Amino acid sequence: SVPLTYFSGIGAGSRRGILFKGGASLEALNNVKTIVMDKTGTITKGNFVVQKVVPAQGVPLDENELLWLAAACEGASTHPIAKSIINSYEERKTSAAKAGDFSLVAVGATVENIREQAGEGISAELEGKTILCGNVKLMERNNIDLSGYHGTPGSTEVLLAMDGHFLGHVDIADTIKADAKSAISRMKAQGLTTAMLTGDGQASADAVAQEVGIDEVRARLLPQDKLSALTDIREKCGAVMFVGDGINDAPVLAGADVGAAMGSGADAAIEAADVVFMKADLTSIPISIKIARKANIVSK
Ligand code: ADP
Ligand code: MG
Repeated sequence: SVPLTYFSGIGAGSRRGILFKGGASLEALNNVKTIVMDKTGTITKGNFVVQKVVPAQGVPLDENELLWLAAACEGASTHPIAKSIINSYEERKTSAAKAGDFSLVAVGATVENIREQAGEGISAELEGKTILCGNVKLMERNNIDLSGYHGTPGSTEVLLAMDGHFLGHVDIADTIKADAKSAISRMKAQGLTTAMLTGDGQASADAVAQEVGIDEVRARLLPQDKLSALTDIREKCGAVMFVGDGINDAPVLAGADVGAAMGSGADAAIEAADVVFMKADLTSIPISIKIARKANIVSK
C-alpha cells in the first residue's frame, strides 16, 4: 500500500511543476546517491548559435561556401546543432542579398544521400563526392587527416570533409542555464554526487562541468554508450537519477534507478520517465530530492 505521506509528496511536487509517477518513484528517489545529467538541453539551454566559420588552410572555399555546405548537409536534421547552422546560413544569405551579393542565392548544387549518424553528424554526397559534417569522432572513424585542425576549447565544433580531405569547421556555442551552478551546489549540499554524460567533445564537456561544478564527466559518448556509462557511475557512486531532455536518451532514462524527463521533452521520454520536470530549470532537481526525503521520513 502507498503511505498517505506520498500523496502529500506528490501534491507538493505538482505545485512546483514536478510530476512524480506514483509513490514508488518518491521512494526510489529518496535512495538516490548520484544525479547524472545529460549536457545538451539539460545543463545547457540547447540553443546553439554559430560563432565562427573557419575554412582550412589551402582549401579553395570561403566562409560562405563552407557554411552553405554545412547547411545543405544539415537540412533534414532536427538536431539543435543543425537548426543553428541553417539559421545562420539563412541570415547570411539574406544580408548578402540585401547588399547586392546573390552568390549564396544562386548556388546550384544539391546535396544527396543524406544520412544522419546519432552522436556523430551527417554523411552525404555532392556531385559524386563524399561529404562529412559532424564531430571529431565522425572524422576519425573515416580516417580524415586532421593535422591542419586546431580546435577551439569550450565550443562545439562541426567539422567538414570532402572525399577524405578536411575542409574546415563551423564553431557554435550553447549557453549554460542561469541556475545551473546554484542548483549543482544545492545537490552537493544534499550529499549527492553529480555527473554529466554527453556526446559532445571532451574539451567542451570539461569547460561546462568546471563552470557549474560537476564532479564526474563522460564525454564523446554515442547514444548507445550512455547506458553503460551510467551503469559504471552507479557502481562507483551509488543509486542514480538520470535527468535528460529525452532526445536520444530513452534507454538511459529507463535504465536509471529513477529516470527524469526535463522540460517539454520528447513524448517517448515523458512516457519512459518516473519523474517529469515541467520546468526546464535545474533547481527542480534538488527540490524533488527534498520532497522525496520529507515524504519518506514522515512515512517511517
Ligand atoms: P548530447 O549528448 O550532448 O545531448 P547528442 O548525443 O545529441 O548530444 O550529440 C552528440 C554530438 O554529436 C554533438 O555534440 C555533435 O558533435 C554531434 N552531432 C550530433 N548530431 C549532429 C548533427 N546533426 N550535425 C553535426 N553534429 C552532430
Ligand atoms: Mg541530448
